[in-house]
Amino acid sequence: MEDFDHIKHIVLQQLSRCVVCHREYEVSDITSVQRKPGVWTLMVECEQCHSRNYIAAVTAEGSAEDAMLEVRSLTQRAMRGDDRSTDEESDTIASEAPLTGDRVTAGDVVDMHDFLNEFDGDFSTLFRSS
Ligand SMILES: [Zn+2]
Repeated sequence: MEDFDHIKHIVLQQLSRCVVCHREYEVSDITSVQRKPGVWTLMVECEQCHSRNYIAAVTAEGSAEDAMLEVRSLTQRAMRGDDRSTDEESDTIASEAPLTGDRVTAGDVVDMHDFLNEFDGDFSTLFRSS
């Protein structure tokens, strides 16, 4: 799980504290939701106020649009209160097969912490490429 440890630290750099209660996130707040070739979706749940943020990490074989769609579908599912992770749509969820591609880098992590509140349908504003 070396990659997961790596990405958790990247996520903490991007999302240092809870936007709701301002508690500082810890590594243990981050869980892997699903991993597909090119897109790795993570959830950060604040231990204090239980607000949830979905984070998509994009590897070299994925695209920002793919990540956006993943996060959007997960967010919509969560907003419907249908938060079961793997039972439905199992045909689209890849197993935890090892990725053959590149390691995730800091620049590939998409910051989605304002997604629920601020998403306006414009994908391009959600992806900072610096
Ligand atoms: Zn919080």
